[in-house]
Amino acid sequence: MKVHCPSCDKVLYSRRLKQCAFCGAEIPEALRFSAEEIAALDRSLAESAARRKGNEHEFEEREAKRRADSDSASSFFSLL
Ligand SMILES: [Zn+2]
Repeated sequence: MKVHCPSCDKVLYSRRLKQCAFCGAEIPEALRFSAEEIAALDRSLAESAARRKGNEHEFEEREAKRRADSDSASSFFSLL
């Protein structure tokens, strides 16, 4: 859901701001995230970032294993 500044009607790109970045008008509390919502948002962002990192690591491990497997397979076949 997009939130517009009640003063200049520009789309607010961040609901954390207390003031409109365009006209400087104060953003009503109802249109802003509360401190709890911001904290929850930060937490979920950090969590998803950590998850992404974890997945990347897992992927790298899988790739390394796959490479090792194919290496041993090719050396096995070279013995035949
Ligand atoms: Zn504004």
